[in-house]
Amino acid sequence: MKLPICTFDAKSGILCPKCEAKLKSGQLTQADVDISIKMMKIAPQISELDKVSIVRAFEIDDSIALALTAGDLALFRSDYALFKKLEQALEKKTWLVQAEGSDRKVLEDVFFPVRIVNVNQVWLPDGSKMTKIVISGRKTERFPIDIEKAQKVLKAVKGIELLVGFERQ
Ligand SMILES: [Zn+2]
Repeated sequence: MKLPICTFDAKSGILCPKCEAKLKSGQLTQADVDISIKMMKIAPQISELDKVSIVRAFEIDDSIALALTAGDLALFRSDYALFKKLEQALEKKTWLVQAEGSDRKVLEDVFFPVRIVNVNQVWLPDGSKMTKIVISGRKTERFPIDIEKAQKVLKAVKGIELLVGFERQ
């Protein structure tokens, strides 16, 4: 398993000088460190994690977001039981996104498996930029995504300020 910090640091819970410097300079966050340590603890329960690369980790309120390489993201997407196992081991609602994915890709990752039909940039009168997505169909009670949480995840992971609309009201 590859983590934002060295595997050795994640095992010992103590950062080497290199990782310590990255944390101080802001290249790494405390969430990267804490979640790396947690991942190392749960690794023995999930053998598939051996091959997985976690590029960045984020804490958003009571949930976790992991930025994975494209191949690793595909692995969890194709095996829902494996994803649930990971989420249960982490004991937190877990969001998966592709590291260094385009804005559109990361939007789709956060809203997975919901279909996004349109993505637009919206400029507000104060000059700030927001991203507006339009979701297929209308919002029903069974809509699987907590939109407010998804907005926070996108802000944390990609700096996206998100507006959400539906195709039909
Ligand atoms: Zn280190």
